[in-house]
Amino acid sequence: MKAAVLRGPKDVRVEQFPEPPMHDDCVKVAVAYCGLCGTDFHKFAGKSGSRPVTYPVPLGHEASGVVVEVGEKVSHFKVGDRVTVDPNWSCGKCHWCHKGKRHLCRNSRGVVKGMAEYICPPEENVYHIPDSLSLRDAALTEPLSCCLHGIELLDMKMGDVVVIIGMGAIGLMMLQLCAKASAGKIIVVEPIEEKRETALKMGATLFVNPQTEDVSKVIKENGIECVDKVLECVGLISTAQLALEVADPGATVVLFGVSDNGAILPVDMYKAFTKELTIKTSYINPGTTPAAIDLLEKKVIETDGFLQEITLEQLPEELETKQFTRKGKVIVRIS
Ligand SMILES: [Zn+2]
Ligand SMILES: [Zn+2]
Repeated sequence: MKAAVLRGPKDVRVEQFPEPPMHDDCVKVAVAYCGLCGTDFHKFAGKSGSRPVTYPVPLGHEASGVVVEVGEKVSHFKVGDRVTVDPNWSCGKCHWCHKGKRHLCRNSRGVVKGMAEYICPPEENVYHIPDSLSLRDAALTEPLSCCLHGIELLDMKMGDVVVIIGMGAIGLMMLQLCAKASAGKIIVVEPIEEKRETALKMGATLFVNPQTEDVSKVIKENGIECVDKVLECVGLISTAQLALEVADPGATVVLFGVSDNGAILPVDMYKAFTKELTIKTSYINPGTTPAAIDLLEKKVIETDGFLQEITLEQLPEELETKQFTRKGKVIVRIS
């Protein structure tokens, strides 16, 4: 089959690759669309994604498509069904699975290499999508489900003042979710000026450029006394430090952006102590896939203009020339 194969750091080729093995508990899906994730850029750069990488491997994990074959033990799917897939498989047998924290499973693996013509995930990872949800939009299921887990951890209440750091594809989705979930005020922190208009249009109260402005000062100057919640959606040490800095007493900070392996965050412990901060990290998408599908069907995320379609052949160049100015999410059309 045709796939965009990561052969090593900075080496992605669109070429023939063996189809994934089909087992009797698996569903074979012809991939229609696969979203390009920040973790794909990490992997391309030779770093880890949500898990370490073994070469050669097709990139991608945010796939939607149509069922073309079902294993003997599969009971909920048939050929022709339109589906989306949760790429994270868990064993169901370890301590964390037994405790209901399947996303922390110590035997977990990725079962979707979606920048390819076919994937064969286990049935338990496959989800039907409603007729009114397009296959294109359904490819947003996994990133949106991860965002929903981040929002759960943020414990946002109606009327809360939320700071979102970073307006990449994740930040843009977080912004729309917070706006629709009735955040009181939303402050977006982003260095790329071109994103100001989009952020304000999508529900931001205030846009602050951290390269030219003192973020905390601008927030206070705008009459905002207390930042209740902070969502860090970049993954750099500097942005994580900024997240802790702008958090006011009693705030919750969620570090959502994927950092580099071994990145060490220096924290002003005394400040964090006197502000009684709650600091959390967010990892993948436990139990949030059905809600993500429902919210996509309801158009809670504005996908027109947000999703920017490219072909599989264009993917290597997209990875090579990472466009930080893009105001949306890149999605690869496979078939
Ligand atoms: Zn992703
Ligand atoms: Zn497990």
